[in-house]
Amino acid sequence: MNPELLEQGAERLQSAANKGQGRVLDPGALDLRHGRVLYLEDISVSFDGFKALNNLSLDIAVGELRCIIGPNGAGKTTMMDVITGKTRPDAGNAFFGNTINLLRHSESEIVRLGLGRKFQKPTVFERLSVLENLELALQTDPGVWACLRFKPTPAHRERMDAVLKQIHLSSEAQRQAGLLSHGQKQWLEIGMLLMLDPKLLLLDEPVAGMTDHETERTAELLLSLQGKHSLMVVEHDMKFIDALTCDDARKKVTVLHEGRVLAEGSLAQVQADPQVLEVYLGR
Ligand code: ADP
Ligand code: MG
Repeated sequence: MNPELLEQGAERLQSAANKGQGRVLDPGALDLRHGRVLYLEDISVSFDGFKALNNLSLDIAVGELRCIIGPNGAGKTTMMDVITGKTRPDAGNAFFGNTINLLRHSESEIVRLGLGRKFQKPTVFERLSVLENLELALQTDPGVWACLRFKPTPAHRERMDAVLKQIHLSSEAQRQAGLLSHGQKQWLEIGMLLMLDPKLLLLDEPVAGMTDHETERTAELLLSLQGKHSLMVVEHDMKFIDALTCDDARKKVTVLHEGRVLAEGSLAQVQADPQVLEVYLGR
């Protein structure tokens, strides 16, 4: 492994240790027997008296791909911040599976419990190769990095090959990540999340800035992940939402507005909902 990679690994470990986050969590703790991977109940978040989330309740089934839409400022990103432990709500409950209370875990613990998040901007390591980025992703597992002389095991290599195929970057494995197109960087970041085999993946506006072709490929990629993973996808691009839901006319779409759920149902249902039309067209 190249020295820069090692150095970055050491830095990450050190920063995790400084935050006291070296605790290994038992991934077996996730209890999905009741069929729900995520359960939010009456979540409220205020910023200086302004309610960014206002009694938000929502749940996601195991293996579901849920699309979330809503105008700017609806609270979509804040909801993801709550789920991932970045923002603590003033009130409400948030459970991962049946038993894990997300409000009691740190951000890094939540990652290790099997909840991955992709932010709007890609955060790949530009100077490292595609493959090295995937290797680096394994680092959030402190077990792997107990020894800094990280050597991927055959199982790791298999996983990397499989992920490279999934994200359509097999032929770019040795390429420097900084040289990839914007869309490819976004896929690489999804790949980095997949290395940890998350049970739930949160994606915030994954196709922003992508070409039409890249957007279509991203829809295919996310559709290929559903079932094995649960996904929550926040997006404005209605063509993309259409592509994500067209395999099942009953697939649920949630509309957020002013910090709560305004409507939930199939894409056709929410698009015909008078309240939704008012929110989108009434301004
Ligand atoms: P969305 O992602 O749906 O566009 P956000 O969750 O980013 O909406 O924001 C919801 C509301 O909360 C917005 O009005 C935003 O200005 C406000 N907000 C978000 N984060 C903060 C913060 N850290 N401090 C103050 N206000 C915030
Ligand atoms: Mg947002």
